[in-house]
Amino acid sequence: MVLFPRADQCGAHRDIHTRRDSMPELPEVETVRRILDAGIVGESIRDVSIGDFPAVLAATLDGIDPAQTLMGRTFTETARRGKYLVLNLDAGWHLIVHLRMTGRLLLLPAGAPAVRFEHLAIRLGNDMDIRFGDQRKFGRLVLATTNDVDRLDRKLGPEPFAAEINATSLSRSLARRPGKIKNALLDQRLIAGLGNIYVDESLYRSRIHPERASNSLTIEEVKRVIRAIRHVLNGAIERQGTTFSSFENPYGEQGTNAGFLRVYGRSGGGLCFRCGAALQRIVVGGRGTTFCPRCQVIGTPPIDQVPEHDDDTSFVLLQDGIDR
Ligand SMILES: [Zn+2]
Repeated sequence: MVLFPRADQCGAHRDIHTRRDSMPELPEVETVRRILDAGIVGESIRDVSIGDFPAVLAATLDGIDPAQTLMGRTFTETARRGKYLVLNLDAGWHLIVHLRMTGRLLLLPAGAPAVRFEHLAIRLGNDMDIRFGDQRKFGRLVLATTNDVDRLDRKLGPEPFAAEINATSLSRSLARRPGKIKNALLDQRLIAGLGNIYVDESLYRSRIHPERASNSLTIEEVKRVIRAIRHVLNGAIERQGTTFSSFENPYGEQGTNAGFLRVYGRSGGGLCFRCGAALQRIVVGGRGTTFCPRCQVIGTPPIDQVPEHDDDTSFVLLQDGIDR
C-alpha cells in the first residue's frame, strides 16, 4: 500500500513548486512536533470528526476504520523522522503525519471555530482539539502499526544530526553518485528531512555549486556541506521554521526564518550577502534553484583528494540541538 502518494501522483507536477508553495521540511515539522509534544502526550482521544475529505485519514491495515480505532487511544510520545511526524499511541498504534505542501496541524480549545480548509478534528481529554487543515489536500494522517513505522524508518536515510552522517560516510555515499549534489541532498534515502529551501541554503553556505557532480566533492567540501546543513537547520528550528504562505506552528503562528534566508526565494534581483553578485536561478532536477554564481563555482577538484579516514568530531557538539 502506498502510504503517502507523491505530489505528482495526486495530479500535481513538480514544476508547480514556487516560493509560495514551499513544503514543510525538517525544521517546520520539528517545530510542529515540539509544540504538539507539550500539548498532547498523556491525553486520550475522545472523538474524531472528519469533514468532506475522508481520504485525509487512512490506515495501513485493510478492514479497519481509522477514526473508530483512534477512539479511546492515548498519545504516549511524539517523534519525527525526516519530514514525517510520528505520533505514538498506546496499544501499538502510531499516527504518521505528512504535511506535504499546505497541511497544517493546529492545537485549539475544543469548540474553537473551524480552521481554514479543515478536514479533521481530534478531540482530546484535556478539551483541546488537534485540527488538520490543508488547502491542497496532499497532506495525510495515517494510522499505522509499529511495523509500518519501522518500514518508514528503513526507507529513509539518517537524520542530518545523526552521528552516521559524517564526512567519511557521506563522502563514500556521494562517491557512488554521478548526479548533481543538489539532487543527492534532496534524496530522502541519503539524508532525511531536507527539501528545496534548506538544500539551497546549505549549498550556498558551503560554497558548492548545486550542479556539481556529487562524486566530485572533496572530503573538505563534504565537511563544509555537513556543517552548513546543521547550521542552517538549527537556525531554522530556533526560528520555528520558514513561512512564506501557509506554514504555521500548532498555535497558528508563523515561523520567522524567511527573513534569514540567503538565497532561497531571492532570485530576481537579490544580491549575494557575501560578495554582492546578482543571485541566479536555474532549474536542477525539476526544482527551482537559487545560488551565487561567484561564490558557488562549478570547479571540480579531483576525487583522489579524498582521504580514507577523517577525524571530524564537530557533529558531536551539534547533536544536542535537536531530537530529544
Ligand atoms: Zn556571492
